[in-house]
Amino acid sequence: MEVVCLDLEGVLVPEIWIEFAKHTGIDELKATTRDISDYDELMSMRLGVLKKHGLGLAEIQLVIATLSPLPGAKDFLDWVRERYQLIILSDTFYEFADPLMVQLGRPTLFCHRLEIDQQGMVAGYRLRQEDPKRCSVKALKSLNYRVIAAGDSYNDTTMLSEADAGFLFHAPDNVIREFPQFPAIHSYEALQQAFLDVKFG
Ligand SMILES: [Mg+2]
Repeated sequence: MEVVCLDLEGVLVPEIWIEFAKHTGIDELKATTRDISDYDELMSMRLGVLKKHGLGLAEIQLVIATLSPLPGAKDFLDWVRERYQLIILSDTFYEFADPLMVQLGRPTLFCHRLEIDQQGMVAGYRLRQEDPKRCSVKALKSLNYRVIAAGDSYNDTTMLSEADAGFLFHAPDNVIREFPQFPAIHSYEALQQAFLDVKFG
């Protein structure tokens, strides 16, 4: 039995914070872990900016609902789900991803949660666990599943190495250079073929 584990942002949907920043015109929200390496600091900054602009969860979800999955993503997911079990492993939050997950047919998603206060403002966030993508793959393997994984960035690499077969998809050049052990793939068609070609030892 095989499970396909896919990253979400950059693989099936655009980077949510960056698209959100573009749509709202709030430039401060374009910062990523590359600009502010401390994740807590980055998230505190983001939550402060949302508050300053009076953006609660309802307003945020309305903006995110105007975003679309990447072209071809839904068809690709349907193809995967006809052949494998599928789990999306992401470092986003359920509350942010939801409007995009609806458009993808609501596949299973393992990610994190936001804390919403009485006024509907984002008060904080709760990461589900440390190194969640690797832990998820490990857990699936303990259930006797073979795992095929694909992702685009640094936070995917422990998942890719834990999986029986791991692929970089839509990854930037620096990630491809630093992790040459993972085949770098750039189209859904090629990724489908790569999945079909996986030989389990
Ligand atoms: Mg990603």
